[in-house]
Amino acid sequence: MTKAALMRAFHEPLSVEEVTLPHAGPGEVKVRLLASGICHSDLSVQSGVLLSSAQRDGLATKFPMVLGHEGAGVITEVGAGVTSLREGDHVITLPIGQCGDCVYCSKSQPFLCDSGQSIMRHAAMPDGSTRFATESGESVWQMSGIGTLAEELIVTPTSLVKIAPGVNMASASLVGCAILTGSGSALNTADIKQGDTVVVVGCGPVGQSIIQGARIAGAERIIAVDLLPSKLALATKVGATDEVLAGPDRDVVDEVRKLTNGHGVDVAFEAIGLQVTTDQAIKMTAKGGQIIIVGMAPRDVMVSMPSLSGVLRGAKTIRGSYFGWSDAQKDVARLLEYYKEGVFHIDEIISSVVKIDQVNDGFSSLKEGKETCVVVDLS
Ligand SMILES: [Zn+2]
Ligand SMILES: [Zn+2]
Repeated sequence: MTKAALMRAFHEPLSVEEVTLPHAGPGEVKVRLLASGICHSDLSVQSGVLLSSAQRDGLATKFPMVLGHEGAGVITEVGAGVTSLREGDHVITLPIGQCGDCVYCSKSQPFLCDSGQSIMRHAAMPDGSTRFATESGESVWQMSGIGTLAEELIVTPTSLVKIAPGVNMASASLVGCAILTGSGSALNTADIKQGDTVVVVGCGPVGQSIIQGARIAGAERIIAVDLLPSKLALATKVGATDEVLAGPDRDVVDEVRKLTNGHGVDVAFEAIGLQVTTDQAIKMTAKGGQIIIVGMAPRDVMVSMPSLSGVLRGAKTIRGSYFGWSDAQKDVARLLEYYKEGVFHIDEIISSVVKIDQVNDGFSSLKEGKETCVVVDLS
């Protein structure tokens, strides 16, 4: 039996239950998970905000579902035909698998992988079925085809990246989603030049990783914007040069413009996914600047910029940084090298570690903004 955190309805606390798993089938592996991050996307799936009403109805037929999509663990079983991974390998999970074969993987855009996105949408294995079941035999779906808020899972190797042993598992668990997305937004999606000024709006785990990616890319000034002083303090610790505290009575656009002699920044990252912060990021950008959209926004949030003063005369560019434009196999190795050298900080981003029985406390404290980053210890 495996303990797992199940979503049984939108907006309801997760239900921690014992589930069963079969042996790994052909083309599959079984992973003993040791840690899983709780990502804001888990909160968004729980509340249904990322979905259209039709999708919400569709997903509602996929209850119960094990949430969680950023995890780290050790392979305990390898199914027939799997040659890329072995029992005992340390791995991290990817929310969007990268198959290596589809049209996007073939043109060096594996972050848009057709197969990975299909698996993610269906919350199932590639064949559309699921491996978890309750004790009574009810099928249990797997968020992103994974479901890392569980002690064990069965997954396809395209949703995993092998890592060297010795990496702290709590830190490793964040790499597959928050860290890849944030660092990739700065190192892959944005075109940051030596000496550039950037702003990062939203300093959760993704924002903290953008800040570090921007520092590595050569940005000279990195302005962190957040509602919480604790997140700004952490931002400064990992590389931000200026802090701007946001709030209902504060004009953050004006403050960022003042910090940049009225010009605005070269690159503005939006890492929250709200209308107000998206509009602010656009207004904070200088002529010729880039706006990088990283935050997963509800469906009604629009990105709009004046055609004449923004796009044409302003020569501004907007890019959507889906999954940090990551080539996971390559980028994870690069990141963990930076981590090992002490250039990229992950341990410092984790503000709280809980056991799976306290998973709902973790969700609540993230939702209320009390914590920057919560990891579930599954060891
Ligand atoms: Zn995530
Ligand atoms: Zn692919």
